Amino acid sequence: MDKVAALKAHIPPVRTLISVDGAKNAFIAYFVFTHLVRTTVFVSSHGIVGTARAVYGGVMDRVVRIIMSLPSTVKKVEEGMQQARIDIEARLVPSGPGVERHLELPAQGKCTEWILAEMDRMDHETAGKTEWKDGHVSGAVYHGGEDMERVIVAAFEKFVVSNPLHPDVFPAVRKMEAEVVSMCLRMYNHPDGAGTMTSGGTESILMAVKAYRDWARDVKGITEPEMVIPASAHAAFDKAGAYFKIKVHHIPVDPVTRQVPIKAVKRAVNWNTIMVVGSAINFPDGCMDDIVELGKLAKRRNIGLHVDCCLGSFIMPFLERAGFPVAPFDFRVEGVTSISCDTHKYGFAPKGSSVVMYRSADLRKYQYYVNSEWPGGVYASPSISGSRPGSLIAGTWAAMQYMGQEGYLNSCREIVATAKTIENAIRNELPELFVLGKPVASVVAFGSKDESALSVLAIGDLMSARGWHLNALMNPPAVHIACTRLTVGRAERFITDLKDSLREAKERPSGASAGGNMVTVYGLGHSTAVGPRLVQKLATVFLDTLYKA
Ligand SMILES: *Cc1c(COP(=O)(O)O)cnc(C)c1O
Repeated sequence: MDKVAALKAHIPPVRTLISVDGAKNAFIAYFVFTHLVRTTVFVSSHGIVGTARAVYGGVMDRVVRIIMSLPSTVKKVEEGMQQARIDIEARLVPSGPGVERHLELPAQGKCTEWILAEMDRMDHETAGKTEWKDGHVSGAVYHGGEDMERVIVAAFEKFVVSNPLHPDVFPAVRKMEAEVVSMCLRMYNHPDGAGTMTSGGTESILMAVKAYRDWARDVKGITEPEMVIPASAHAAFDKAGAYFKIKVHHIPVDPVTRQVPIKAVKRAVNWNTIMVVGSAINFPDGCMDDIVELGKLAKRRNIGLHVDCCLGSFIMPFLERAGFPVAPFDFRVEGVTSISCDTHKYGFAPKGSSVVMYRSADLRKYQYYVNSEWPGGVYASPSISGSRPGSLIAGTWAAMQYMGQEGYLNSCREIVATAKTIENAIRNELPELFVLGKPVASVVAFGSKDESALSVLAIGDLMSARGWHLNALMNPPAVHIACTRLTVGRAERFITDLKDSLREAKERPSGASAGGNMVTVYGLGHSTAVGPRLVQKLATVFLDTLYKA
């Protein structure tokens, strides 16, 4: 007998090892077991009420799907959407005989004078445009000073064709990017850390989430990644979950403190969890989570803790020196493994600029993309983009050099003092309203103590009629203002207008809206089970309209 035959003689036929029945039973057992495990994990992380709510939500979702597919509903929805499209277009797309559309490349190139004149014309032809220079806009424009504009434009001019993808051709841009990251790491008290610049807060967050996903796969073998985030965390985390196939657990925040309850986060963490998130500060109400406790949890479970300082950016690191007490939030807190900081918010850098930082270069490497077999050559890039505008890096570096520590400290002092003035006025002079949580920096959110009698979104609409451009929030309904350098000196005016709006809202018969859009959009979203789906459709119509030339 040869060797193979001898070996075969010792192996019993497969059929005797596992019978068909046995295989079937084993498969069923496996199926039941995995589902049982999943159910147990789900129930233990969501609680009984949460699970019941999720099941109910799932059933309602099916029901809504069926209702929405009925021919009569489809027709009604289509008609409604058509009307919405007309309304949105009327608001966003200039029309009329005076409007010239540039739908095709001009046959011959135009001169610079024509281009600039045409840009001026376009800038003026949209009726009802919000004038941001008055300082009535929440967020959106963070500096707006002509001096800063000149610094940034000068930097753009110098580096207009540069691209950090080619550091050998543009060595100065490479150096400036490294220095911007280094300055941010020192601001957040971790000079030994690592980071990169990105195109904005969303990309910084996408990159951090991707880094944790790849880290967890490499180090812990996690193939079905999950993350746990406060319900108040930025939508960019959900976007990351959707883009990178990561399950997102949303933990409702405490209604009084507006912080994520650590116990609930703990309960939602399981063996597939790659990271947890805390905000300092969050977008909706400007409060911050308990980063120290989140850090302890992350460290104990050996998972990532990303602190979202996109909005806190250049305010949070200067709060203490500006005389506003603040709980620890930066790399000095054990367990914090990454931080995002938007240079294009309170850093006053040009739009399209943010920084993502990691505790170590070892963690940062999971953000990178490397392809060693591409026919175009070995391809290595640090973030989502390939080619990037070096001019934005230069503009950011210039803005930071222009401001310096003293400049940021002063802007922090002025902006936060403005927010505090507004907060105190709402607390002390407007008994019908309440402030959400304990805002720590530049954002103040307020709601109505009796929403059924006095709708805060109606007040928001009346503020819009007075020229204010505020943000409407949901769950609970509220309105916020993100103070910027342009808001400084406008607090008194804001408070007077808010008092007037409140009085006017009270004089209206209850239920009558101010005719603005905050109420309509909100009402559509939550009055019926069909609402959220209609909002999805409406949002798509809105996005489509952005591309109507
Ligand atoms: C603005 C913001 C972001 C990111 O937004 P971008 O518009 O992409 O810069 C993330 N988190 C918070 C809390 C923010 O306010």
